[in-house]
Parts: sequence; structure tokens; C-alpha cells
Amino acid sequence: MNNALPITARHVTKTYGSVHALDDVSLDVKSGEFLTLLGPSGSGKTTLLMVLAGFTRPDSGSLKFGDEEVIRTAPHLRGVGMVFQNYALFPHMTVAGNVGYPLRLRKTPAAEIARRVEEALETVQLGGFGARRIDQLSGGQKQRVALARSIVFEPRILLMDEPLSALDKKLRDQMQIELRSLHEKLGMTTVYVTHDQREALTMSDRIAVVNHGKIMQLATPRQLYDFPANRFVADFIGDSTFLPVERRGNQITYAGMALKYAGDVPSAGPLLLMIRPERLRLAAASETANVFQASVSNVVYQGDSYLMYATLADGTDISLRGGVRGDIVAHLPSVGDPVALSLEAADTVLISADD
Ligand code: ADP
Ligand code: MG
Repeated sequence: MNNALPITARHVTKTYGSVHALDDVSLDVKSGEFLTLLGPSGSGKTTLLMVLAGFTRPDSGSLKFGDEEVIRTAPHLRGVGMVFQNYALFPHMTVAGNVGYPLRLRKTPAAEIARRVEEALETVQLGGFGARRIDQLSGGQKQRVALARSIVFEPRILLMDEPLSALDKKLRDQMQIELRSLHEKLGMTTVYVTHDQREALTMSDRIAVVNHGKIMQLATPRQLYDFPANRFVADFIGDSTFLPVERRGNQITYAGMALKYAGDVPSAGPLLLMIRPERLRLAAASETANVFQASVSNVVYQGDSYLMYATLADGTDISLRGGVRGDIVAHLPSVGDPVALSLEAADTVLISADD
């Protein structure tokens, strides 16, 4: 399919009483891109998706699909497929009845409906399931039916609101990969909503992190994880410890120790050093640069890795993740042991403490 469209939202605002569900949101989704809105509950993700779908009219702002302004266009005229969290299937219809529904709305001839329904069912690996009743399906199968229904009329844009959140973890992991390959096959511009950071990192070309109705950062999974723009993003995606550091001319110091650092330093204001657990390692005895002295408070075996919790001299909790074959196993520390933790200059990330 080659009719994907870019989405351009500008200054979209939506308030409910005193709640700013969307606070002056501008967003560009590229043609054929898989973009995820990631944020905590109540951050405005569903509201933004509903504005894109046309079910919610914003107070102000503009929205274009390609060159076409659609802010006043009714939902069924936007060429948008939508998948909801709770499937929203018609329980009294068969699988084929559900999947063919958007085509019947569009007055498609019956023979073509039958053909396209079977095609859509095959796309979601439910070929031959047309005659089944909805209540004969598992949760994963229902979600596939909802997906087939959303793509059967070849929408230009696909919107999905937490479509996997009702599934158990194993099926969810499998569906993430399937949805991603389906996207690669169909090439529709896709906006996906989740509050699950791992799901967002797994599936997306780019992620928009949303909080309080604003986009905090829009970037690739790698950029977001490695170079979060601010503390909210760093906290929301992955685990981190934040240490207050000081500027002294060209030097950045932590508790009097000059840091070896690489990369950008925010130009003004107070700074934090962000440390991810998997970037830390146990320091060799000879090391002196970027070494943090701490005391072990707990060591937890998590199957695929060890997590060691420790406390720095100033009382800050810090953690180190080590592989099950890594150095942490060779000298597995006990609670109360002093440890020296080290961080490569290349792994230092300095962010602004202000936002
Ligand atoms: P999310 O999908 O990220 O959980 P929502 O977009 O559903 O967040 O909600 C954003 C904010 O707007 C929340 O504070 C929510 O309570 C409020 N909100 C959403 N829809 C309505 C509504 N129809 N009436 C009143 N408040 C709403
Ligand atoms: Mg929601």
C-alpha cells in the first residue's frame, strides 16, 4: 500500500474545566512512520489520539493529513483506522461481520467485502475464522479481529490506543513483534499509544514522551534512552540515579571529584549526572577517574542479570546491573561491603536539573 500520509498537528489545545488535557501540542508524524505516544496515565495520550481520529474536537489548533486540513472533518471521512484498548467489537456479529463493518458503512459491494475481509483476516493470521462468534475467541484473537477491522478499508493512517494492555505478558511480547512486522508490510502512518516504556522502545521509529498534555521529547528510542532531554524523560524511561554536579569553569565536579565526561553539557543552570545501572561497573583497584565509593545495600538475582543496590557517601541510592557471567558474579559483594563503582567518560550524561 502506498497511500500513507504525514500528520501535522499545530498548537492543539483541549481543556476539560481546569484540566489541560492537551496544552499547545505540535507534532509531525512522517509518512509511513510508526510513532508512539508514551506517558503516564492521565497525561493526554488518548485525548491526542481522539483529536487525530476526529472523535474529540480541540478548543484550538490545526491538523493536517498531507496537505488537507481535517480538524472539521468527521471521523468516518478521515480515512483513519482505529484500534481501541477494549477491542470494541460487536459481540452479536461474527468475526466476518465485525471485520466487514467499515466496508458496509462505505457501501462496498458484497462480493468485494467478502474478498477483502478474508484478506484482512489472513493478514492478522486469522484466515478461515470468519464464521466464528466473537465470544468463541481468546483475548489475543479478539485483538487481531479489531486490528483486521481497522485495516480492512486500507486507511491512510492507523491509530492504536493501548491495544495490547489487556493481554498477558507473553502474548503481548509476541503481538508487539507482529504489529511491527505488519506495519512494515502495510506501511501505514501509525500513531500508537502506550504507557509501557519497553513496548514503546520495542516498536517505534520515534517516541513522543507526553506529560501533563505536553510533549516533553520526541526522538528515536535510542536517543530518548541514551540522551533524555530532561529529568522527567530520564525517569520515565529506564532506571537512573541522578547526582547533583557542579560547574567549575570547564570542569564538572561531583563531591569534589572532577568528572571525565563526553558529549553535550546543558549551557546554563544547575546540572545532574544521570547514571543508568547497566552503564556502571565495579572499578578495578587501580582506577581513579569517575570512581564512586559506595556501600552495598542489597544484591538481587533477576534471572537474566544481577542488580546490586548501593548507597553513596552522601546517602544517594545507586544501582548497578551486571550480567550473570560478568565481573559482579566473580566477586559477588555482600550487604555492607564497600564497593567502588566506575563510569566511563563515554557513558556520562549531563542533564539540566531545572525541568
Ligand atoms: P491518558 O490517555 O494519557 O491516560 P487522557 O487523554 O485520557 O490521558 O486524559 C488526559 C486528562 O484529561 C486527564 O486528566 C483526564 O482526566 C482528562 N479528561 C480526558 N477526557 C475527559 C473528559 N471527557 N471529561 C473530563 N476530563 C477528561
Ligand atoms: Mg488513555
